[in-house]
Amino acid sequence: MIAVVPVRAGFLPAGAGEAVAEAGGVALVAGEGAAEAAAELAEPRARRWAPAAASWRLDELELGPFGPTSYARAIAPVVGAEAVVILPSSPDGRDLAPRLAALLGVPLLAAAIEVHPGWARVVRRGGAQLVELQVTGPFVATLLARGRPVGRPRTRQSTPSLATGSGSASGPDAPAPAPAPAPAPAADPDPEILGVLAPEPASMDLADAPRILAGGAGLGGPEEFALLARVAERLGASVGATRAVTDAGLVDHDRQIGTTGVSVRPELYVAFGISGAAQHVGGIGDPAHVIAVNTDPSAPMMAIADLAVVADAAGTLRALERLLASRAEAAARAD
Ligand SMILES: Cc1cc2nc3c(=O)[nH]c(=O)nc-3n(C[C@H](O)[C@H](O)[C@H](O)COP(=O)(O)OP(=O)(O)OC[C@H]3O[C@@H](n4cnc5c(N)ncnc54)[C@H](O)[C@@H]3O)c2cc1C
Repeated sequence: MIAVVPVRAGFLPAGAGEAVAEAGGVALVAGEGAAEAAAELAEPRARRWAPAAASWRLDELELGPFGPTSYARAIAPVVGAEAVVILPSSPDGRDLAPRLAALLGVPLLAAAIEVHPGWARVVRRGGAQLVELQVTGPFVATLLARGRPVGRPRTRQSTPSLATGSGSASGPDAPAPAPAPAPAPAADPDPEILGVLAPEPASMDLADAPRILAGGAGLGGPEEFALLARVAERLGASVGATRAVTDAGLVDHDRQIGTTGVSVRPELYVAFGISGAAQHVGGIGDPAHVIAVNTDPSAPMMAIADLAVVADAAGTLRALERLLASRAEAAARAD
């Protein structure tokens, strides 16, 4: 088995570490900045999905700017002998996987949560059903990011309610067996890329956000969370929250960080009024910089912070907003 991790400008897609762990630690990191991305993948924070003792073998394939067709053509000969090729379910992974499967003449099993030679467990019906598909011969699979370290439940956010038999099961709802592969397509060009837009921090997938300002129950109510959103916008950061906050309806559930929420991997994580419960901290990854603002100096969140500020969270945010506004005014006057 081998994982194929498509990268852009040296950046790993979400779910890269999980795909490599699922493939037993063997991966081809392919794309622009492959060496840089492979080095990041070799770091402990990317390898937290795999058993500690597992050794990883990462090969690199340096390619130009992302093009699904040209990437598939370059990668297919390298992975053609593998029984299973696993790609992360990132946008580029999902773009590349069907093309790779077609070039290799093998089936594609999309949205898997578990992959083995000969079979995979895939999610269907919007997460309501788990289906085990048996495959004779090699195949390509895309792996959903589980958002969980190894050993935890193998689904992200919601647990599908029903497990069914194999792909050859009968009955009205039985899934179809993996289809026979279509012949490899004739050479077609890459789509023309008109531009690549940076994601909006306010709406981007929290799992990919490089900077997160997170609020907890100690921050306050709707007004304070609106303030948090304004400051985050000014800093180009995304808003995260604890479960206490999302359960109270102050922030949407897709912004909840933790064991029953999203697992994130930011460079900067700022916690306003967050106690630092294990279920929350378990989802914040291993940020390079952690700042905590809390009135209680002995809160667990303060213990793991690089900078622990003993202060009122909302007051600190208000001061920060004023500071940012005055700096923006000064910069506008200077122009
Ligand atoms: C099965 C299970 C799964 C869970 N999953 C998650 C999860 O995915 N994510 C998650 O976050 N939680 C999860 N939880 C809940 C978790 O255990 C905690 O209850 C939750 O994280 C606490 O949120 P909090 O830090 O916002 O609130 P609290 O624990 O109430 O902490 C509030 C903090 O704010 C501080 N504070 C108070 N006033 C101020 C002020 N004026 N200024 C600054 N600081 C102030 C307090 O000192 C305190 O440290 C889960 C729990 C269970 C049982």
